Amino acid sequence: HHGYIEVVIGPMYSGKSEELIRRLKRAKIAKQNVVAFKPAIDNRYSDEDVVSHSGVRIKAIPIKSAKEIYDYIDENTEVVGIDEIQFFEDEVVDIAMELADRGIRVIAAGLDMDFRGEPFGPTPKLLAVAEFVDKLQAVCMVCGNPAHRTQRLINGKPAKYNDPIILVGATESYEARCRKCHVIIKDED
Ligand code: ADP
Ligand code: ZN
Repeated sequence: HHGYIEVVIGPMYSGKSEELIRRLKRAKIAKQNVVAFKPAIDNRYSDEDVVSHSGVRIKAIPIKSAKEIYDYIDENTEVVGIDEIQFFEDEVVDIAMELADRGIRVIAAGLDMDFRGEPFGPTPKLLAVAEFVDKLQAVCMVCGNPAHRTQRLINGKPAKYNDPIILVGATESYEARCRKCHVIIKDED
């Protein structure tokens, strides 16, 4: 078998999970041995599934560390899917490479940028070493153009650059935005 790495990146709502699920479902239709994973922290809709914002889903094993992938694969595994790749440690890159070297098709999906528009976790490294990269765009919630960034909103207003990741008592949300409509408020502004 011929292994390789495919990465699907883009902002929130760009259809990364949908695309990952589509590829994994097609591999299952081809009777391939497929296993999907996601970080255990991502329990937005279901603990045991990858679920897209449009509602399509596939079974996925929640794992705390990418090393746990080895506990669920064997010599029969042909395809490994990993969603929300940005939440894993950098070691996920080495693990994806090793799986591909073993002949496994690795399909990873995740955010390439955080809400500040900066490279997010291991994703940039993974796409550098991948055979195939698809960068998806969402629809900008302000102007309707293609959106490649994710806007973080705190109580409906653009988040500040240094706002903590967890804000007790605040209502936090995210929207897809284009370069023009994406707002980052730095403290010195
Ligand atoms: P991601 O994994 O990239 O966050 P999903 O696959 O979960 O994306 O969801 C994609 C779906 O989200 C689209 O098919 C569409 O139904 C819905 N959606 C909601 N808001 C937007 C938006 N601003 N742009 C594009 N799709 C959106
Ligand atoms: Zn816009």
